[in-house]
Amino acid sequence: MNVFSDIAFDDHEQVVFASDKTTGLKTIIAVHNTNLGPSLGGCRMWPYASEQDAIHDVLRLSRGMTYKSALANLPLGGGKSVIIGDPRSQKTPEFFRAMGRAVEQLGGRYIVAEDVGTSPEDMGHIASQTKHVGGINDGKDPERTGDPSPFTAYGVFIGLKEAVRFKHGSDDLTGMRVAVQGLGHVGYHLCRMLHAAGAKLIVADLNAASMKAAAMEFGATAVPVDKILSVDADILAPCALGGVINDRTIEELKVGVIAGAANNQLEDDRHGEMLREAGILYAPDYVINAGGVIEVYYCREGKTVAETNMHIEGIGETVREIFERAKDQNLSTGFVADRLAEERFGLKK
Ligand code: NAD
Repeated sequence: MNVFSDIAFDDHEQVVFASDKTTGLKTIIAVHNTNLGPSLGGCRMWPYASEQDAIHDVLRLSRGMTYKSALANLPLGGGKSVIIGDPRSQKTPEFFRAMGRAVEQLGGRYIVAEDVGTSPEDMGHIASQTKHVGGINDGKDPERTGDPSPFTAYGVFIGLKEAVRFKHGSDDLTGMRVAVQGLGHVGYHLCRMLHAAGAKLIVADLNAASMKAAAMEFGATAVPVDKILSVDADILAPCALGGVINDRTIEELKVGVIAGAANNQLEDDRHGEMLREAGILYAPDYVINAGGVIEVYYCREGKTVAETNMHIEGIGETVREIFERAKDQNLSTGFVADRLAEERFGLKK
């Protein structure tokens, strides 16, 4: 079992292994960097095939949170936790109380939130043992359901408009054709905003009912899932899976802008360079999908939805700076985003 020699290890400050015999909890908590503040990141529960897979995942994801929070201008560092287990069969309130005690032992250096395999309810059990938890629906604010997805969608919408402005000189979306891949929690909210802004939607999802709903509600044109990346459109918004921009799909793209919510849209960093060479403006995913983490932080701080949205609107300024630097220096937007994040969290050492 390797930690220091894992390819995703990047001078992480702390990696903690914790377990609880009674409930069977096995967790790894990784604190990547706390230069800007306590580390915040979700708790992923997954039946990892091996402990090494879990270590690799938590190292990779915690590092990503440092970059995301730095570019989102949050006073936070990057952390993440993984629970090795099956979320369908192993969850109990006591299991998550044990997780809460593990988080508490870090004394506030790590703030936990929900992620794949965990829910606001699980965070509630964690909260009985530690105050270092976010993403809890306390029911106090009717505009908040505990689901960060509408806030993520809002940030993507802001980033997408900024990309259109950079490409075309105006962010007017009237009549713009936007291909949306994935009509889940984020994609559907994004469609609502795009429709309200006058865009024409082309959509695809594995779930036929979602496509039908988007056709009814937004007049969207539904296409088969294997056609959405090659449709003739102005903008592509990947909101389903990672790795969708790759050697094969780049050749088929007919859009000028890519701006969506999905994490890790580029299969490899070199695909960012290929997009640049093809004249396609790519809004780096982790920059424009930060609305969710901004919401988790603002909710924890007791701020209003209006204050949260105002902070999310700052994504526009950040992504514009990235586009400008990338253009001036003939570099890919993803490369520039990473360097800008490092400037922000590295300078405060
Ligand atoms: P979700 O699971 O609610 O939705 C994903 C949708 O994509 C589903 O409707 C699914 O049917 C569809 N889908 C899956 N494979 C597809 C394919 N091949 N073609 C077309 N559609 C397909 O997830 P979500 O919460 O909406 O998140 C979407 C993406 O955004 C994910 O990559 C997620 O990691 C990322 N993200 C989400 C948030 C958030 O706040 N939810 C925050 C940051 C990043």
